[in-house]
Amino acid sequence: MIIKNIVIVGGGSAGWMTATTLLSQFPDKKITLVESPNISTIGVGESTVAGGQSGFNGIINWFDLVNIKDEFMPHTDAIHKLSIGFEDFYYKDSGRFHYPFGIPYTFNHKSRMNDWYYKKIRYPETPVSDYANCFYPAMALVNQNKSLFNENFSVTQGRKDLEKDATNNQVQLLSEFSYQLDATKLGIWLRDKYCKARYGKNFTHILAEVKDIPLNEKGIKHLALDSGQKLTGDLFIDCTGFRSLLLGQTFKVPFNSLEKLIPNNSAWATKIPYTNPEKQIVNYTNCTAIENGWVWEIPLWSRMGSGYVFSDKFVSSEDALKEFKKALIKKGYKNVEDLEYRLIPMKCGSHSQLWVKNTCAIGLSAGFIEPLHSNGLHSTHEFIFNLVRVLAQGRINQWDRQCFTASCYYGFNKFSALVALTYTLSHRDDTEYWRDIQNRDSPDVLKPQLACGYGTFFDQKMLRGEYNTQGALPCMSAGMNWNPTDIHTLKYYNTFDDFDQTYSFYINQLNSRKKKWNKEVKNFMSPYQYLKKYIHRG
Ligand code: FAD
Repeated sequence: MIIKNIVIVGGGSAGWMTATTLLSQFPDKKITLVESPNISTIGVGESTVAGGQSGFNGIINWFDLVNIKDEFMPHTDAIHKLSIGFEDFYYKDSGRFHYPFGIPYTFNHKSRMNDWYYKKIRYPETPVSDYANCFYPAMALVNQNKSLFNENFSVTQGRKDLEKDATNNQVQLLSEFSYQLDATKLGIWLRDKYCKARYGKNFTHILAEVKDIPLNEKGIKHLALDSGQKLTGDLFIDCTGFRSLLLGQTFKVPFNSLEKLIPNNSAWATKIPYTNPEKQIVNYTNCTAIENGWVWEIPLWSRMGSGYVFSDKFVSSEDALKEFKKALIKKGYKNVEDLEYRLIPMKCGSHSQLWVKNTCAIGLSAGFIEPLHSNGLHSTHEFIFNLVRVLAQGRINQWDRQCFTASCYYGFNKFSALVALTYTLSHRDDTEYWRDIQNRDSPDVLKPQLACGYGTFFDQKMLRGEYNTQGALPCMSAGMNWNPTDIHTLKYYNTFDDFDQTYSFYINQLNSRKKKWNKEVKNFMSPYQYLKKYIHRG
């Protein structure tokens, strides 16, 4: 099978990101995107992730691939994002810790990751949030609400090699970032300023609804549109959102739910006007655990996006809305009753095959992990990249189709494990919802992590590479007060005797480095000031 003529169904951010990528990477192919003028897009999707950890690529890798710099920012309400804050996940009112982007800065010496655990053992009152503060320079910016960028440090410069051992502007050079943006506006911007403006002659945009999908031995014979037109193609890409019109409804590919791993299946979403943007525009997404799920706060340039992700097995939608409003009021938001709220059912999981005959799926129609770690657009561009790699082979057979599914699954499953870990490590027991989570067996996907836990000696595990110091695990685990070593383990392994002598030097080093980072950014602009002056002018 040789693919020259590609038809994308759906004009949400998945459809437009797919069109953008294919047009940029395969200028010789003919791309058509058909979207219904009557079926709206999902209308949420605001927080994205950076690359660098656990081998994930971030949204910036995708922007680089399609040669987009930060020109989209003013059109998509975008601001920079450095971290995700997790509040009250460990137990009720346990407070917030951060999981920042980038690679933990460890003096270029792997085992120095241990220092923080020794610090925690030596000074048990050390808050769990201190782990990120000690290893991620970005936390100096997050904690003081300072912009990663300023007059002397641009977005382009920030994308350069972050690994180099910088002596100046250390915080900036060592910090990775992504964006908080309006995914719907991103889709529109990609449509007008990228697909149509740059690639007009290879690209056709059709506003119509797909009404019928006759099949033949190749898969889809054509798409019958409500306009009467019949669309043929070599490859059809399903970007129809949770409907999954092609892969799910037409080919009836089974859906593997993530319900056992991650409990939530619904969300209330709202948009909140700012009362004090200078203070409210922060460079992180905040997630707060409440009675039956968690509340997101994602600051964009013109407003705050917020929502309550919950499981309707434990609370009715009406009661969930009450809980959401109560949480917003507790956070200090005003006029909560006047806001508009939208209920969004979520289908969490993925189809068992992502490419069948002449049809593959990208975006919500392929799979979705609830948004706790901002996965949506991430999976979208990762799946698109996997598609690009397959298409680059030229000729496609079943092996290639299966490679696509397998490579999408690889990243998707790793990410699901990260989200599941946040629930697995929770000790909340204030409602039936949290008690149910606590009593669930640990998911198989987390078994390797479990094996690195209690009863093993951290140094040895780490030296053998079994405890990934670069990944999310140490940061999320430390934040949830689950550490791979403790005083008993040290005694048991006979490494306790020279504790103070050996480790006080490193503990001091951790502390003074943190102080230095905080000092370094003290006079930086706030995100609001920077964005107003350089990005969202006027
Ligand atoms: P949609 O936006 O639903 O688009 C579907 C398209 O298909 C529409 O254009 C529709 O018109 C078209 N269509 C459907 N049927 C037909 C038909 N018969 N004929 C023609 N066209 C048709 N992602 C993040 O990265 N960060 C987040 O913080 C985040 N938060 C989220 C919160 C929630 C509660 C949910 C549910 C999702 C969140 N996401 C997030 C995911 C994000 O919203 C999606 O990944 C992203 O918007 C892509 O959606 P989509 O394009 O796949 O689907």
